[in-house]
Order: sequence, then C-alpha cells, then structure tokens
Amino acid sequence: MDYQSHFASAIEALHAERRYRVFADLERIAGRFPAALWRHEGEAREITVWCSNDYLGMGQHPAVVEAMSSAVAAMGSGAGGTRNISGTSHPLVELEAELADLHGKEAALVFTSGFVSNDASISTIAKLLPDCLILSDELNHASMIEGVRRSGCRKQVFRHNDLAHLEELLKAADPERPKLIVFESVYSMDGDVAPIAAICDLADRYNAMTYIDEVHAVGMYGPRGGGITDRDGVAHRLDVIEGTLAKAFGVLGGYIAGSRALVDAVRSYATGFIFTTALPPALAAAAAASIRHLKGSATERAGQQRQVGEVKRGLTEADLPVMASDTHIVPLLVGDPELCKQASDRLLDRHGIYIQPINYPTVPRGTERLRITPTPLHDDALVAALRDALVETWTALGIPFASQRPAAEARDDHPPALVLAKAGG
Ligand SMILES: *Cc1c(COP(=O)(O)O)cnc(C)c1O
Repeated sequence: MDYQSHFASAIEALHAERRYRVFADLERIAGRFPAALWRHEGEAREITVWCSNDYLGMGQHPAVVEAMSSAVAAMGSGAGGTRNISGTSHPLVELEAELADLHGKEAALVFTSGFVSNDASISTIAKLLPDCLILSDELNHASMIEGVRRSGCRKQVFRHNDLAHLEELLKAADPERPKLIVFESVYSMDGDVAPIAAICDLADRYNAMTYIDEVHAVGMYGPRGGGITDRDGVAHRLDVIEGTLAKAFGVLGGYIAGSRALVDAVRSYATGFIFTTALPPALAAAAAASIRHLKGSATERAGQQRQVGEVKRGLTEADLPVMASDTHIVPLLVGDPELCKQASDRLLDRHGIYIQPINYPTVPRGTERLRITPTPLHDDALVAALRDALVETWTALGIPFASQRPAAEARDDHPPALVLAKAGG
C-alpha cells in the first residue's frame, strides 16, 4: 500500500477542479486596520484586506487589546484545563453573563469556536429529545450540518428560506414528535436574511423548537449588537441563539444562549464542551470587552452600514455585477472558478487588494464570486481604489460586467445566488 500516493491524488483532484486553496501569508498591523503585510517570494508588501470577517475592526480596538493584554499579564496565557478540571476562569464566567444579557436569555455557554458550538449543541440537544426530527435550511453552515449528522436523528432539509416548504414538512410530521428547526439569520455567501418571525410563527403552530445561528449578525445588528433577532425584537421567541466571538467581536470562541435548563443540559452532556481545554482567560476578557463596547456604541455599526452603502453604490455605478444582498456582505459575481482565482491573484499582485476567491463547494458552480466585506475603517478613498482596481481587473481578464450578462441573472424570479443588484439600488 502506497499511502502517500492516496494523499497526492486527493490533492490532484482538487487542482483539476480548480478547487485547490492557497493561503496568502498575511500579517495584520495593529492600529492600521484594514492594512496588512503580505509576504510573497521573499518580499513584504503592504496591502488592503477587503474580505475580513473582523467586520467592525474590533480585533484591534484599544479596549479589546487592552483587556487581552492585561488579562495575560494578570493570569497568564492558557486556561489550564477543561472546564471540569481547572479551566473555569473568572473572565469566562463574566463573559457568559455578558452573552446571556446580550440576547436576553437566562444562560449562555462558551465553546472554543463557533464551529464547535454548533456541532456540540445541535447534536446534544437533538439527542436529548426522544426521536427528534430536525428541519434544516438547505444553505446551513457546515458546522450545523455536522451537528445534525452527529445527532443521528432524522433530518429533513427545507428549501432556503422557504416558509411554505418548511410548513409542508412540519405538517406532515407526527404532531407528538419533538422537532428542532435549525437555521441562520444572515447567510454569509449571499448576504440574505431569514424570515425569522415567520419561522417562529410556524414553530409555535407546530410546536417545534428553534435554533438560530447569528454568527454573521452579532455585534452588527440591533440597538445593542444582539444580531438580527435584536434588531427585529424577536430574540425572546428563539429557543437557542448561537454566535461567534471571532467575527464582529474580533477574538475567538463560540457560544449558545438559551434557557437555564437547556444550557445546563448541553454543559453536562456535550462531549465537544466537556473534553476540551477551555478558552483562555485573556480571550474571554477580550471578547467580553468587545461585547460590552458594542452594546453601548452604535458608531461602528453605523460606520459599517455607511461604507457598505458606498461600496454597493460605487461598484454598481461602475457596472460591476454586484449581487443583491440585504446586509453588510457584498458578493461580486464572476461565474467561473478559474477567472475567480485569476481576479483574486491580479487584485493582490497589481493593486495590493486582498479578496479571497469563493468557489465551489462553498457556493454553487457558476456562481463563483468575490465576497467583499466593507468595515467602518474602509474609508471613501479605499472604496474608490477598490472600484478602480476591480474595473481594471474585469476589463483585463474579460469578466462580464453587469450589462453584459444575460438578463435572466437580474430577474427577481432567479435563484438568490444569481440575482444582481439593481443599478442605483
Ligand atoms: C464562521 C461560521 C461559523 C463558525 O464560527 P467560528 O467561530 O469561526 O468557528 C458558524 N456558523 C457560520 C454561519 C459561520 O459562517
């Protein structure tokens, strides 16, 4: 058995499909977000990052950096063990109280990542219910799919954000059977938003539980940054709200918030919580500082929305194929994996602009795109430079501009992934 050749041919298959990923060697510069150093072929060049999930630049916020460094100085680097053994640090206790308050829930539980929080929580909640039926949105994140799969429960996938399909599945199920609806608020590749209140109405009517992933919304929406459920005043209607500390909050870790009994059950049964070292105290302190800041400050959210508007408007006016999005995520349609990769390479090489290509399987084939995430710190001069660089790249590589694409792509009845933003809108 030639073991190595199996790995080599697995990699070869990815190259053949244009799916092989190369990571850029980047070094973020504290205090100068979104600038970073890019190391390539023995050189270090300063570039602008346009695809960070540090959506508000909180990873470099003075209050967050200060909380992390003073906690490291006071308590050291690591957690010292699993929560059961010796890792329940005071900053972690405070962080969980902060999170429960953020979502108006009785309790919260922190995990080492958002991925782990979904995987561990969904699988544990579903397993604890007798013969649970899981209803899962077809575009759910890999971490949720993994949790559903590991629960071993029966699952039914409903068409993306399709209330009629969800209701059909709920209606067909035994009324006595426990049901768990798992979905996201903001879907991160198209930037569209779930009809949360209507899903909760269905959950009430058919007596189902609801589990929402607010990873791409916490910190950014709602008067206190509690996400879309905060913005829409519906947080109390969700049984479980899951989020990350690693995107808009700028640190690392994931969590769930919910009733005391549910959170205590996950704490007591989830292997992905029990058998792994706790989040270090400095990370917990930094995350809590970030959440506290964003609860009281709307400046970052307003700045982000303003710059997102500038980017959408500027690129649409330049005839670039901006895909329709209701949120801070600005997808730009390329529609070909090779061109998508080339566009990304050219932007970095020629223009010092870093935007990672998004190809299959992250998005459907034919909808390959650049996913742009403007932050409050991308000022108007950076937006203008982005627009010019994209126009040059689109022209040089012969990627179709919006007006050169088939009209179908801009029609309202087209799948969400292919709907282009209307000019001027
Ligand atoms: C990134 C992401 C996660 C995982 O969060 P991490 O904290 O990065 O592990 C979960 N759900 C969605 C929708 C995500 O995009």
